[in-house]
Amino acid sequence: MNLLMKKIKEDGEVLSDSVLKVDSFLNHQIDPELMSEIGKEFARRFQDEGITKILTIESSGIAPSVMTGLQLNVPVIFARKRKSLTLINELYSSTVYSFTKQESNEISVSKKFINDDDCVLIIDDFLANGQAAIGLAEIVKKSKAKIAGIGIVIEKGFQEGGKNLREQGFRVESLARISSLNNGEVSFY
Ligand code: 5GP
Repeated sequence: MNLLMKKIKEDGEVLSDSVLKVDSFLNHQIDPELMSEIGKEFARRFQDEGITKILTIESSGIAPSVMTGLQLNVPVIFARKRKSLTLINELYSSTVYSFTKQESNEISVSKKFINDDDCVLIIDDFLANGQAAIGLAEIVKKSKAKIAGIGIVIEKGFQEGGKNLREQGFRVESLARISSLNNGEVSFY
């Protein structure tokens, strides 16, 4: 997606050979016009999949997911990183190791929001080693719903997540695929 790649080139900050900071349009401040275009692009790519729900993880997956949900006219659910222990039987949960925070988080979704007849599109802001996407997929599997695919705003293709998920048979659609962040430069495939 050219608009997104242009924005990454102009406003992205390379923090290291493996971390890109995009807090001026995705991770802190949000560019609504760009998010709207991202929503249209995900909707275009997945429009024939019969999607009934979108599942993401708080907080940076929410903006692109809502814009996609608006286009596909389906609800958006975000997995929460904290859970109330009293509600444990009413939740689907999984454990996700965070690439940026280097810690494990339990993520969970209320059982009432995903049913076995749903067809779910998983969306996230970044794909690195694939832990967040795998955790979300585990939640969908527990609900016995179908997974239509995984939509990623920015995939770092030099990390293992995309390869692993595709090898597991998931359809992964990334709007920008970075081949390298070496020497402070963003390169795309
Ligand atoms: P994974 O679970 O695929 O290893 O990492 C994806 C998650 O880590 C995303 O939800 C995102 O929040 C965070 N993440 C991974 N790499 C980056 C990065 O280079 N920049 C930012 N801002 N977040 C990242």
